[in-house]
Amino acid sequence: TERLLEITGLKVHFKTDDGWVRAVDGVDIGIATGETLCVVGESGCGKTVTAKTILKLIDMPPGKIVAGRIGWRGRDIVPLSPAEMRDIRAKEIGFIFQEPMTSLNPVYTVGEQIAESVRTHEGLSRKAAMDRATEMLRLVNIPSPQRRVHDYPHQFSGGMRQRVMIAMALACNPRLIIADEPTTALDVTIQAQILDLLNDMKEQLGTAVLLITHAMGVVAETAQRVVVMYAGKVVEEAPVGELFANPRHPYTQGLIRSIPRIDRAATEHVRLEAIPGTVPSLLNPPLGCRFAARCRYATEACVAAEPPLREVAPGHKVACIL
Ligand code: SF4
Repeated sequence: TERLLEITGLKVHFKTDDGWVRAVDGVDIGIATGETLCVVGESGCGKTVTAKTILKLIDMPPGKIVAGRIGWRGRDIVPLSPAEMRDIRAKEIGFIFQEPMTSLNPVYTVGEQIAESVRTHEGLSRKAAMDRATEMLRLVNIPSPQRRVHDYPHQFSGGMRQRVMIAMALACNPRLIIADEPTTALDVTIQAQILDLLNDMKEQLGTAVLLITHAMGVVAETAQRVVVMYAGKVVEEAPVGELFANPRHPYTQGLIRSIPRIDRAATEHVRLEAIPGTVPSLLNPPLGCRFAARCRYATEACVAAEPPLREVAPGHKVACIL
């Protein structure tokens, strides 16, 4: 399979009054055609900055790509101009963010917005573009698409708006969809429906998906491969089955333990086992392993030098000295 996206050694830092915050500090991530990759970690681990950097949607300054390469279908997109990037975003990489209300324009109908993006990028007539918009709404299971296409964003519920966002992201047939916490604001049943929908779309259209989430439950349901990030670094990467069966990094183990057990919770009071402590400051990140302050296995060796990402089984990499 073609390597769609190949990020190597990416470092994205932000200038603040107190110095440079090293939000993303040497990250390698690759996605193949048609693959679903989940990037998981707590807030502040660098996953959203990584996603926005791929789309070049971070403000520069204060943000800066200080090192690394973002290979998109074989070409480094770091040096591209804003206009060239707009073109790639519109035609090749779709994106869905957490709160659709901020990405949808309240003064245009959803049909007009979907049609507009298809028209600019495929040069369709107004009529053909509206037909496509209706078709896209049908595809994402919005009831009565022919009528709903003329509605405004505020006339849709949160879950339906997220479907509209997916329809919009897919309207130009992108090769990759980047979805950043697309279900967090929604209730659990709707979340499950949206994830199913993303899976269906992926299957029907062959689009690769980069899904950013803090929820391991979402990972288990959606991913083929998983990248776990902590404090601006990748700490573990593995195929999803392998990661859940055999998590090697203490942070990953903690994340997996923190999944609420719905089957047990109904009958017993199961305490949600969170990982104690907080993510270290990325202004002056600790020298050795960045997880050391929260790790119950930490030794002196852990704080002395940074553990490199090593392959421990085929396709399974981990950055821990254990
Ligand atoms: Fe824990 Fe040390 Fe492994 Fe870091 S390198 S996760 S501190 S055991």
